[in-house]
Amino acid sequence: MIEKWNLKLLYKSETDPQIQKDIDLSTKNVRSFVKTWKTNKEYTKDPAVLEKALQESEKLSATTGICDKPIYYFMMLNELDQTDANIKARLNQITEIYTKLVNEIQFFDLNISKIPKAKQSKFLNYEGLKPYKHLLEQSFLSSKYILSDKEEKVFNLTSKTSYSNWVNMLTELLSKQKMVVLDDELKEKEITYNEINKYLDSQNKKVRDYAVKEYNQINSQYVEIAEFEINSVLEDKKISDDYRKISRPDLTRHIADDIESEVVDTLVKTVTENFDVTRAYYKRKAELMGVKQLGYYERNVPLPGASMKYEFPEAMKLVQKTFKNLDPKFEEIVDTFLRNGQYDVYPSKGKTGGAFCTSINRNLPTFILLNHKDQLESVLTIAHESGHGIHTELAKKQDALNDGYPTSLAEIASTFFEDFVLTEILKETTDEKVIQAILDKKIHDDTASIFRQVAFYNFETELHDDFREKGFLTKEYISDLFCKHMKAYLGDAVKEDESMRNGWIYVSHFRRFFYVYSYASGLLISKALQKMVKDDKKNIVYVKRFMESGSTQSPKELFKGIGIDITKKEFWKNGIEEIKTLLNKL
Ligand SMILES: [Zn+2]
Repeated sequence: MIEKWNLKLLYKSETDPQIQKDIDLSTKNVRSFVKTWKTNKEYTKDPAVLEKALQESEKLSATTGICDKPIYYFMMLNELDQTDANIKARLNQITEIYTKLVNEIQFFDLNISKIPKAKQSKFLNYEGLKPYKHLLEQSFLSSKYILSDKEEKVFNLTSKTSYSNWVNMLTELLSKQKMVVLDDELKEKEITYNEINKYLDSQNKKVRDYAVKEYNQINSQYVEIAEFEINSVLEDKKISDDYRKISRPDLTRHIADDIESEVVDTLVKTVTENFDVTRAYYKRKAELMGVKQLGYYERNVPLPGASMKYEFPEAMKLVQKTFKNLDPKFEEIVDTFLRNGQYDVYPSKGKTGGAFCTSINRNLPTFILLNHKDQLESVLTIAHESGHGIHTELAKKQDALNDGYPTSLAEIASTFFEDFVLTEILKETTDEKVIQAILDKKIHDDTASIFRQVAFYNFETELHDDFREKGFLTKEYISDLFCKHMKAYLGDAVKEDESMRNGWIYVSHFRRFFYVYSYASGLLISKALQKMVKDDKKNIVYVKRFMESGSTQSPKELFKGIGIDITKKEFWKNGIEEIKTLLNKL
C-alpha cells in the first residue's frame, strides 16, 4: 500500500529532458493534424472523410493529446505544494503553449458543428461514424449557438477581463482576509477567511457565535464589491446570451451537460415541491440540539456522537470490503490504485485542501488526492473519490473521444459507493447515540446536495431573470432574494440572520451559472441505482453498464436502457422518498 502519489509514473523529475521532448512531440502532432484538415474541408461534406478525420482526432487524444502529460505532471506537483513558485511558473509556461495549440485546432470541432442541417442525417446514419454518433448529435445541437471562428475568438480573449477578473478579484480579496476566532479551548486564534467553516461547525456554541461575528463583519465589508461584481457577471452573461440568441439563461449549461431542459425542469420542480422534507429535518435538528431555532451559520453543526476514529489502512479496508461485496472488479481497480501510488493520503504543508479524483488522458494514471483525518468523514471521502476513479477506469471501455462523462453524470458513481460504505458502517454500529449522529450526518449531506442545490438553482434563475428585467440589482435586493429561497427549503427552524443575508457573497457556484442542479440529479439517480442493487444484487451489472458507457449516450437515453426514466416526476420522487425514510428513523 503506497500512501503518496508516485509521480514517477509520469516523469523522473522536474528536470527530466523527456518533458520538453513531449511538449515538442505534442506540438508536432497537433500541427500535423491542423495541416491535414485546415484547408481540406472534405470532412464536412463526405462522411467517409469525417470518419478518417475523427479517427485521427481520437488517436491524437489517446497519445500526446495537447501537452497532456507535461501539464498533468506540473498540475499534480502544484497540488502537492502550492507554495512552490517554480512549479507554478512552469505550469503557466506549458499552459500558454496549450492555449495556443487549442486555438489553432478549434476550427475542426467548429466546422463539424456547422455541417448544414439538411446534411446532418447523412452523417448521423453513416455506418462508419456510428461510434461518434452521439458526439456528432451534441455538436450539431450546440451549433445553433456557436458563432464564427473569429467571433468566438473575441469572446475567448475578452472573457478574462469581462468575467474571470471580476470573479477572481472577489474570491482573492476574501481569501486574503484574516480574522480572530476562538478555538475549542476558547483561546484566541488568527485564521484566514477560508478556514472559517471548522469554527462555524463547532459543537461549542461559544466558538461558532464568536466566529460568525467576525465572519459577518468581513462579508459586510465586501458586500458592495460583491454587488458590482455579480451585476457585471450577470450582464456579461446576458450580453453573450442575447448575442447568441439563447432563450433561457440555463440553456448553455444544459447543452454543455448533455441534458435536456425538460429533465432539469422536472427535477427542480419535483424537489421544490418536496421542500417540506427538509423543513421537517431542520425542525428535528433544532430539537436535537435543544434550541427553538438555528442560526443560518449553524445548519452544518454535527450532532455529538459520531466521533469514531478510522486510521487510513483500516478505513481503506472497510472501503475495499464494501466494494468487493458489490463486485470484485471494483476492489481490483482500487487495489491497482493503491499498489501504484495513485492515492495521496495525508495533509502536508503546501498541499491543496479537500479531496478530488482527476485524470487527463486514458493512458495516464488517474490520481486521487485525500486529506485523511481519521474521522468518519474521511472514510466516506475515500469511498467517494474512489467511486470517481472506478467510473473513470470503466469508461475507458469507450474510445478516446467517448471515454469522459458529462457533469450531469459525474456525481452518480461517487455517491453510490459512498452510501454503500455508510450503510456498512451503520451495520457495524450498535450505540444509539452514534447511530443518531450518523443518520443526522447522512440526511444533512443529502439535503445539502439535493434540496439546497435546488434552492440555489431557483435563486439563480430569479437572479438572472430579475437582472434582465431591471438592469441592476442592489445588494439589499439580492440578499432579500437569497433569503427568500433559503427559507423556502430551511423553514422556520432556521433564522433569517446576517449570515443568511450575506450568504450569496462567497458562493463560487453562482458564478459558474446553473451548475448546482448536477449535484441533485447525480445523487437522486445514484439513490435509484442503490435501490436497484439493494433489491437484487445482480442489478450491479446495470451500474457497471452505466459507468462503462462513458459519454456515448445522453443521460436520458443511457438510463432508459436500464429501465430508468429520468423525464418522469415519479422517478425523482422515489429518491426523495429514500431520504424521508431516513428522516423517520431520525
Ligand atoms: Zn465528487
